[in-house]
Amino acid sequence: MRKKIVAGNWKMNTTVPEGVELAQQVNAAVAAASDIKCDVIIGVPFTHLTAVKAVIDIDKVGLAAQNCADHTSGAYTGEVAAPMVASTGANYVILGHSERRGYYNETPAMLKEKVDLALASGLKVIFCCGESLDEREQGIFKQVIGDELRESLFHLDAQQMANIVIAYEPIWAIGTGKTATSDQAQEVHAFIRGMLAQQYGAQVADDTTILYGGSCKPSNAPELFAKPDIDGGLIGGASLKADSFMGIVTAF
Ligand code: PEP
Repeated sequence: MRKKIVAGNWKMNTTVPEGVELAQQVNAAVAAASDIKCDVIIGVPFTHLTAVKAVIDIDKVGLAAQNCADHTSGAYTGEVAAPMVASTGANYVILGHSERRGYYNETPAMLKEKVDLALASGLKVIFCCGESLDEREQGIFKQVIGDELRESLFHLDAQQMANIVIAYEPIWAIGTGKTATSDQAQEVHAFIRGMLAQQYGAQVADDTTILYGGSCKPSNAPELFAKPDIDGGLIGGASLKADSFMGIVTAF
């Protein structure tokens, strides 16, 4: 049975003390709740990883970085390598977010390197894909998503795919308040699972967790998560307050 997951993406928000406080609140809420039916992960800025790791129970709240470098070490000023992320005790890294692809020109080839280095460091990868509004309106969204998966993930073998979580994030729904309808999201999730089945067979397709991301909040999460191929969410804005994040965590 594939895992259900709700993962927060804090993006470039909170100072270290604020982030530690938020992590403590999430950790306490998860520890206190008896009816959580999904894994919970928080995706924090690099600067917060060590301090946040010290205040969470990593068996109950997973810890993700939001990026890693496409090299392992060396003269890459300002970059943070996958082994460095892993050495903080983090167990996940978010890769391929549309903000990284768009603002920092991350290409499919770079992301392929990052995926390989993250897996080699023992990190699990939350790999983001999704189309722009223009691509949706042109009706080419499946082609765009298919290319993103083929170009950065499909060189992996079936065993490696066990450490990949896919997040479908339509760019037009991220931070805009505009959610994909549950039917629109389900259509893409089923398409992605079909691609996985074609590439890796039914077992891998069945076992891979596929998250939805894009203006997900406590009010719309139950309907989204009720769809058969939506296994949880990658949550931006609503992950910055423990109560709204927990409202989504408990939506299953
Ligand atoms: C995201 O950045 O991954 C995201 C889904 O953002 P939001 O929930 O704010 O739309």
